[in-house]
Amino acid sequence: MPAERGRRLVAGWGNTAPTAADVVAPQSRRELADLLVTPPRRGLIARGLGRSYGDVAQNAGGVVADCTALDRVVGFDGESGVVTVEGGASIDTLLRTFVPLGWFVPVTPGTRYVTVAGCVANDVHGKNHHVDGSFADHVVSLLLQLPDGEVVEIGPERRPDLYWATVGGLGLTGLIVEVTLRLLPVRTSLVRVDRERASDLDDLMARMAGGDHRYRYSVAWIDLLASGRALGRAVLTRGDHAEPSDLPARAARHPLAFSPRSPLPTPPVVPPHLLNRWSIKAFNELWFRKGNDRPEGLETIGAFFHPLDGVAAWNRLYGPQGFLQYQFVLPPGEEATLRAIVERLACERVASFLAVLKRFGDGNAGLLSFPMKGWTLALDVPAGGSGLDALLDQLDGVVADAGGRVYLAKDARLAPELMPVMYPRLERWRQIRAEVDPAGILMSDLARRLGL
Ligand SMILES: Cc1cc2nc3c(=O)[nH]c(=O)nc-3n(C[C@H](O)[C@H](O)[C@H](O)COP(=O)(O)OP(=O)(O)OC[C@H]3O[C@@H](n4cnc5c(N)ncnc54)[C@H](O)[C@@H]3O)c2cc1C
Repeated sequence: MPAERGRRLVAGWGNTAPTAADVVAPQSRRELADLLVTPPRRGLIARGLGRSYGDVAQNAGGVVADCTALDRVVGFDGESGVVTVEGGASIDTLLRTFVPLGWFVPVTPGTRYVTVAGCVANDVHGKNHHVDGSFADHVVSLLLQLPDGEVVEIGPERRPDLYWATVGGLGLTGLIVEVTLRLLPVRTSLVRVDRERASDLDDLMARMAGGDHRYRYSVAWIDLLASGRALGRAVLTRGDHAEPSDLPARAARHPLAFSPRSPLPTPPVVPPHLLNRWSIKAFNELWFRKGNDRPEGLETIGAFFHPLDGVAAWNRLYGPQGFLQYQFVLPPGEEATLRAIVERLACERVASFLAVLKRFGDGNAGLLSFPMKGWTLALDVPAGGSGLDALLDQLDGVVADAGGRVYLAKDARLAPELMPVMYPRLERWRQIRAEVDPAGILMSDLARRLGL
């Protein structure tokens, strides 16, 4: 069956900058390869499940290749936990298949509705970066279809230059056909969770710096509307995979049972301005209080890792103008800068329903990988607020001056001149990209905007 074509508006998860493209959905590797035989004039970009917030998987006037039909599990070694899957397989599929066998994905973002290729192309991180690094650190090898049609195997050991340009490489070095990665052994499907409240940002950072090493997973939710002495008050949640001995008798009978609930539908009609400063303030108050309700306990994988997956298409709650997620990382020693940014956001009364702080461990050799050692803050903000763009532009400058960077998976607005400052290995990445794609066939809105 030929790939289905159709001109459609394509947007990121934040819905802020849709553009029209010819969307095709290859159903086989042959059809995927055929896309490169006659390259489209405005280029082509692969797309997974569209969970990047910004414009990384869209291509105005060109072709967007939805690769989600190529989602087979190709091989699995039950001794070592090494699995090979096609790039369009989702984390959801991996979890449903392998958790009951005692294997977990080594790195999962905050939603399981992402493809493995999408996780490679953005080199995603989870709540365990301080212990386990990012997605690329667990990949054994990739099959990459280059723009000239050749399929090559790459990995940290094989053609490492191309590998480290491809992980975090935003889909611009080739089409990811297959991914082989190492899964993490687990003995139960539950997580042992500790939750505590921090009275302000200093208290929070001290707790994280002093105690994160005792946990595999750590994340803090920050109340960005709190100010004065409560500036940066937070709920810190940390956990580890539970052992069978942690489980109550009933659960212990099926320690690896995993059946996440299907997401509830979003109401068809969403009241305008549902998420405003007042509703968010009320939510924040409730959430902060809840932080003391259950200081420790067992949680399911879904509740702990993917709480937002409970509601389908929740991004629509932000209404037609959408929302953006601003995520940056600052190196160690820049705690005062982080505090100044949180103060600025609180002072400007930027209402964020979701603001999370994590600690990253060392970054890897990925030339455009986002994670680097330090503190990373991510916040969702309704788009279109007056002064928001100017504020974020200023914060970009502060982040760049401090030696940090913003996360391109979530970006649709960074100024191109900050790219080489934030990503100092950009020039090397450009050289490798020019070698494999001299005609610039692989192209996205983000690549055009940032002059990649
Ligand atoms: C609720 C939520 C929580 C999130 N939490 C986190 C988090 O904790 N940590 C984190 O790092 N990210 C997080 N993200 C972002 C998300 O993990 C990444 O954007 C991820 O890359 C999305 O994968 P996708 O399959 O949706 O890919 P898409 O968004 O569709 O595409 C992402 C990139 O992958 C490329 N790509 C896709 N398929 C292929 C292919 N076959 N070959 C080559 N390139 C390909 C695209 O060209 C694009 O560059 C979150 C997103 C949401 C919505």
